Amino acid sequence: MSAQSAIVIGAGVVGLSTAFHLAAEDLTVTVVDRDPLGDKASFGNAAGIAVTEVVPASVPGLALKIPGWLLDPLGPLAVRPAHALKLLPWLWAFSRAGRPEEVERIGAALSALNSRVYDDLEPMLDACGLSGELQRRGALTVYESEKAFRNDAEEWSFKRRHGIEVRALSGDEAREFEPALSPVITNAILTPQWSHINDPKALVDGLRSWLMRERGVQILTGEVRGFVTQDSQRATLYCEDGREFSGDFVVVAAGAWSGVLAQTLGDRVLLESERGYNTTLPEPGVEISREIIFAERKFVATPLSIGLRIGGAAEFGGLDAVANYKRSEALVSLASRYFPKLNPRGGTAWAGHRPATPDSLPVIGRARRCPNVIYAFGHGHLGLTQAATTGRIVADLVKGRPDSINLSPYSISRFN
Ligand SMILES: Cc1cc2nc3c(=O)[nH]c(=O)nc-3n(C[C@H](O)[C@H](O)[C@H](O)COP(=O)(O)OP(=O)(O)OC[C@H]3O[C@@H](n4cnc5c(N)ncnc54)[C@H](O)[C@@H]3O)c2cc1C
Repeated sequence: MSAQSAIVIGAGVVGLSTAFHLAAEDLTVTVVDRDPLGDKASFGNAAGIAVTEVVPASVPGLALKIPGWLLDPLGPLAVRPAHALKLLPWLWAFSRAGRPEEVERIGAALSALNSRVYDDLEPMLDACGLSGELQRRGALTVYESEKAFRNDAEEWSFKRRHGIEVRALSGDEAREFEPALSPVITNAILTPQWSHINDPKALVDGLRSWLMRERGVQILTGEVRGFVTQDSQRATLYCEDGREFSGDFVVVAAGAWSGVLAQTLGDRVLLESERGYNTTLPEPGVEISREIIFAERKFVATPLSIGLRIGGAAEFGGLDAVANYKRSEALVSLASRYFPKLNPRGGTAWAGHRPATPDSLPVIGRARRCPNVIYAFGHGHLGLTQAATTGRIVADLVKGRPDSINLSPYSISRFN
């Protein structure tokens, strides 16, 4: 009997991790991407293996903070006016995801994925010779004001209830961990389970090369436009240039662009680009050992092998809006307040599209009408974190194994 075949649309970290797990099941795997080596969310992200992030973006009380954020032109949240109307259905669903009972449900679903991340990620990195990329050093969330620290108490107890280790520190204790931090920091939380990757682009490049070299995975260039035929045996997709590819399975892992492809199969999904920005400083003049999250100002600093990456921001402007790199610069100015010795010069600015669903949960599961098309997208802030686990779940679906976790919260049916 010939090997089963799978076509994965998208060569980002989710698509490649899925290709890894499918190849491990002896499927013949082809990855199609319109620009396999090109820039994507998976290259420039903040590099956090953020397994402690089990609280959805929409929580009760958030609505009160949003107007203040929106008023600041370079603040943590922005909506481009031209996109505001299109965003309304997403925003409505986002507000509904913030109801207390929904937060509990979503938190449990995020926790179900995040609690198994290392079990799926570490063997993949080991197999590909990339285990040196993972830095298991925890993260520090830091606070300037006592009020903000107290306001977040509920969120931290929510995380504790979901098995997250949380250690409260004074400002001085935080500076013992990270001496580069300014005295303005009064409180901090250490989350030892968090880790980070040395360089997310190196990880994606390494994974792609290993898959081609060691597993014979073909990586093809092509812009997928939709599906030709779908029967219960095979799925056939077509590209912009008219080429067609068919496989026993097709996986849609096209990040923020996946919604259009799902629509061609009759599946509605609320998926938005939540664009983030950062600057990587090659000679930052300060050293930190772990990722630092600045709670009030909603940005992070990660010590990468290529420099200090300072990033954040959530901008809703659609996939075609021109990036506003002033946001990347603004984040560096902000960071100078917390790292007094920071050298802000020589940085590389970057922007990327987070594939954001309103309920902060990815879409993982079969297309409603085509069981041999499987979705693996919409990971928002957690695509790097959840990529290996997503790949493993997709492989289980392809092999018809019983679900290792309840997959209903991630189903595309929730939008239909
Ligand atoms: C600023 C920022 C910081 C972040 N920080 C973190 C973090 O610390 N930790 C974390 O876990 N996550 C983080 N994320 C989120 C994470 O980067 C994303 O969730 C993840 O990279 C998504 O991966 P992906 O493979 O789904 O999408 P992408 O990396 O966007 O890849 C999608 C691929 O699909 C291809 N494609 C799209 N449409 C088509 C088509 N029609 N035909 C062919 N190819 C197509 C694209 O060319 C692209 O290569 C961050 C994101 C940003 C922007």
